Amino acid sequence: MTGCAGWVCGRARAVVLTVLAQVAPYNQAMHILIANDDGYLAPGLAALVRACEGLGHIDVFAPEQNASGTSNALTLSRPLSIFEARGEHVKGFRVVNGTPSDSVHVALTGVLGRRPDLVLSGINNGANMGDDTLYSGTVAAAMEGFLFGVPAIAFSQAEKGWGELDAAAATARSVIEQVLATSRLDGPPWLLNVNIPNRADAASLPRVVTRLGRRHASEAVIQQMSPRGEPIYWIGPAGDAREAGEGTDFHAVANGQVSITPLQVDLTDHAARGAWAQRLARPA
Ligand code: MN
Repeated sequence: MTGCAGWVCGRARAVVLTVLAQVAPYNQAMHILIANDDGYLAPGLAALVRACEGLGHIDVFAPEQNASGTSNALTLSRPLSIFEARGEHVKGFRVVNGTPSDSVHVALTGVLGRRPDLVLSGINNGANMGDDTLYSGTVAAAMEGFLFGVPAIAFSQAEKGWGELDAAAATARSVIEQVLATSRLDGPPWLLNVNIPNRADAASLPRVVTRLGRRHASEAVIQQMSPRGEPIYWIGPAGDAREAGEGTDFHAVANGQVSITPLQVDLTDHAARGAWAQRLARPA
């Protein structure tokens, strides 16, 4: 029985090692890909990268410009360029002149040269809750990892302005460690959307698993005149929360909790399929 260490021998030892690998994957050389949508210079990105120190090998791919609200857009009409950032806080970040989804997409489809174990996105400047998640570049960057089969987490601060960013970063670290200790990275992928109140005690706030709330339709478009005398339009602000009851992300954050929403991508209205099939299956 060579290689038998004390009480753990042969098959028993293999089982112990397997269990250890499942409950503590972050003790191995984990590879983490980090992206965001506020651009590579955003304080929230540097904060998330710092928060992940020691968890494994980290690669950062982030958009050159602020690309908030670009959803899952991919740039198909022109080529993309990538340069390596210099300077404090961003050294070694790979900067992509495209969208958040572009950044993760090019990393995963060849530029990174390996498959990461985890994709992280954020920390975003402002909440991504309810219907906003459909427009969010922060969620989209994480979703791009998820679509490629890699587990992913998107992080956002509830309020804009980077208030209590260090506390949000500590919260992100704590959530990541909790997820790594309890969840498999090598099974079916999962996608989590985390919203963190801007509070100094964020890391010790209760964490609740929520569902997405709903918003009222966006407010009216704002019309102005351009200097050339032509009408121009600004997209209006998002509507107020419409469904913000208990169990929603809106409710959690409003009550001083960290909201964690597991997301899926299937937009199919499964409940309505039968009724539509009856109406449309036969040509009129
Ligand atoms: Mn953003």
